[in-house]
Amino acid sequence: MKQEIDAYNNVLELVGQTPIIKLNRIANDFQGEFYAKFEAFNPGHSTKDRIALYIIEQAEKKGILKPGDTIVETTSGNTGFSIAMVSIIKGYECILAVSSKSSKDKIDMLRAMGAKVYVCPAHVSADDPRSYYQVARRIHEETKGSVYINQYFNELNIDAHYTSTGPEIWKQTNGQLTHFIACSGTGGTISGTARFLKEQNPNIKVIGVDAYGSVLKKYHETGELDKDEIYPYRIEGLGKNLIPTATDFDVIDKFVKVTDEESAHTAREVSKTEGLFVGYTSGAVMQAIKQLAADGEFDENSKVVMIFPDHGSRYMSKIYSDEWMRDQGFFDSVNIEEEIQIEY
Ligand code: PMP
Repeated sequence: MKQEIDAYNNVLELVGQTPIIKLNRIANDFQGEFYAKFEAFNPGHSTKDRIALYIIEQAEKKGILKPGDTIVETTSGNTGFSIAMVSIIKGYECILAVSSKSSKDKIDMLRAMGAKVYVCPAHVSADDPRSYYQVARRIHEETKGSVYINQYFNELNIDAHYTSTGPEIWKQTNGQLTHFIACSGTGGTISGTARFLKEQNPNIKVIGVDAYGSVLKKYHETGELDKDEIYPYRIEGLGKNLIPTATDFDVIDKFVKVTDEESAHTAREVSKTEGLFVGYTSGAVMQAIKQLAADGEFDENSKVVMIFPDHGSRYMSKIYSDEWMRDQGFFDSVNIEEEIQIEY
């Protein structure tokens, strides 16, 4: 009798069910236990695989998408990669408007995955016709049979995490977690996951990570968009210069802000101490945890779950380039001998 081959039917069957890994070194000095859900284990190497697959499959279920149709999106790179991957398997055309802040590696990767990429200036307002929002909207309007994913303003972004990331964390921790901490960009990850977790246990404390230069923390505290909070920063995928409706501010207890510099160093530290090669925003979430620990947020009973959204390989020309770090002035205040490894 012929043996069946033990194989997945396609790469999309591998989306989700990512592992939670205990941090054994970097958080040693803090009270409590710390666990990272490492989303780089998704086949597209980031958490965005979940929303790309979910939103596209919802559109298919509603009969909105037919084979050969076009999917349009704005993206800092990760969502684009995931949409490109899903489009290949499902036979859609993928058109992406990306920010010029995105790393060259990310843009090259999108093109390698067959996407058509438009690079738009990062530091213009959202209503400027050159912004990636407006460019994507225009392409969508001009392309017949296209779907605009619109991750910042799409409730399905929240649902994708409510139906996957949240239940996975609840099951993986046997409901024992006390804190859930995640970066907020579109807000989909933190909102959907927290909505599910708080329905199971309203005492779970949910903390969002925001960037200096972004409006989210202040908006959460005051209910108003303060334009004075907005200035350029380097971390891709974290924070925003507008209020995304894909963020449910009610399920987030508080926000913590982190700097570009400390997040970059902390990402490098996570890689070197835990052997987890993480992206820039994973450094941001770990940096937020350092600040929270210093402020006495945790005690010996704390079981803290954080999201590490993507993989370090996407940042070789940024935080993992000593030259880039030096150019940003990120080595000015640290011991360079410790930071720069001798090359043989
Ligand atoms: N980290 C990275 C690297 C991202 O690309 C994003 C998405 N913009 C986030 C964190 C934040 O996730 P979310 O959009 O679900 O808030």
